[in-house]
Amino acid sequence: MNRRQWLKATGGLGAGSVLANWVSLPGLAQERPACSWDASITRLKLRHTWTTTMSSSEYRDTLQVRLSSDGVTGVGEGAPIVRYHENAEDGKKAIASILPLLQTVNPWHFEKTMTDVFRAMPGQFAAKAALDIALMDWAGKKMNVPLYQLLGLDPADTPITTFSIGIDTPEITRQKVREAESFPVLKIKVGLDTDEATIAAVRSVTKKPLRVDANEGWKDKEEAVRKINWLESQGVEFIEQPMPAEMIEETRWVRSRVHLPIIADEAAVSASSIRKLIDAYDGVNVKLDKCGGIQESLRMIYVAKSLGMKTMLGCMVSSSVSVTAAAHLSPLVDYADLDGNLLIANDPYTGVTVQKGKLILPEGPGLGLKPV
Ligand code: MG
Repeated sequence: MNRRQWLKATGGLGAGSVLANWVSLPGLAQERPACSWDASITRLKLRHTWTTTMSSSEYRDTLQVRLSSDGVTGVGEGAPIVRYHENAEDGKKAIASILPLLQTVNPWHFEKTMTDVFRAMPGQFAAKAALDIALMDWAGKKMNVPLYQLLGLDPADTPITTFSIGIDTPEITRQKVREAESFPVLKIKVGLDTDEATIAAVRSVTKKPLRVDANEGWKDKEEAVRKINWLESQGVEFIEQPMPAEMIEETRWVRSRVHLPIIADEAAVSASSIRKLIDAYDGVNVKLDKCGGIQESLRMIYVAKSLGMKTMLGCMVSSSVSVTAAAHLSPLVDYADLDGNLLIANDPYTGVTVQKGKLILPEGPGLGLKPV
């Protein structure tokens, strides 16, 4: 019996037309198309000098990856995180070292491919993220659907994103807050001995809700409790990573003495790292660059949800490639801090946009990026 005869025998044209569409989807035959990969370093110029407790800089280098296969090119990006001793040059070398593996993968097997990449390449999570994003962009483009659709998500469910204000003088802080007028919620970086002055500067120009990120800046648990309780009185919604990542016990102590939710960032690096955080934190901040891409981010989000924790998507300073990839997952999470592309002056692409703080996903296939 050929397919047409089988369709006739099993019930009519309606089912047949659905099946015909299904059968014609590309890739289901799972042939292995040839893959070519390219990794380069892009220097992104910052609009403002960016300062946190960890670093201060005027530019950021990110890894850009291109995967070409079967007539389609997927793009990916990873921003190396200094906190984890990563830099773009080492990431590029790490990708070069596994090129023989990458060239033989079937990009339709993006899950298996990244499992193999995680085994073959220790560390280098930004490089992993760049590879994973390129694979997912490629798959979405081949299927001709946006990434959010490939993941079964409704683009109407995207949260608002905060806009981050780095540590600076009170005068520059006030100027940055004014520039961020269109964002309904701000994220303020603290963790130095200027915290009170920073918050006072912000509050001198806006009454908006604030979220505060201490980036592991408070080393003393009593100081952390004092600061968090003071921040509660300043209209702050939650605190991100108040104490160093390894101080889980102390953070648990702090959490039992404050009302504000505490979100893990530096302490939550992978899906398997979340379980031990459960009593110390109320939620986790998931970043593609930190955990190694879209697929591990999804696992982190699902693990956190299954443990009853809040979920957040964050980003590093990066172009629209990485930020748009994260934004496609954002219908899944409670909070978003996806502003890394807004902090740079030479974004090579347009992708996700922001309207009154809400993330608006592009409609094109894959990530939906357009070159500038
Ligand atoms: Mg953070």
